Amino acid sequence: MRGRGQGEAQGAPGPAMPAAGRRYGAGVAPIRYRCNACGNLTRFDVTTDRRTRAFHHYSVGGALEVEDEVVLKEDVIEVSCRWCGHGRAVEPVSPDEAAAAGATG
Ligand SMILES: [Zn+2]
Repeated sequence: MRGRGQGEAQGAPGPAMPAAGRRYGAGVAPIRYRCNACGNLTRFDVTTDRRTRAFHHYSVGGALEVEDEVVLKEDVIEVSCRWCGHGRAVEPVSPDEAAAAGATG
């Protein structure tokens, strides 16, 4: 008969929240782009290499709900203009600049 000789591990450590992480959704100011070839400000194909961590919350029935997704690392690999089909003339623009360009139409 085995006794329970070994001490039980006390209290799992709390979840480590990444300090530098960034959530999707509210508060995120995305990078904007402009195609200097055609003037496009709104349609781009963006290829992104993104590592995220999320809380996967399963119901007893097995349905998954992903919560608290945090972006740990994000690299934009390629941005191409939807209309031109390439990214040779695409440049990132500041939000202010994009707003100004949009306002003047
Ligand atoms: Zn274009």
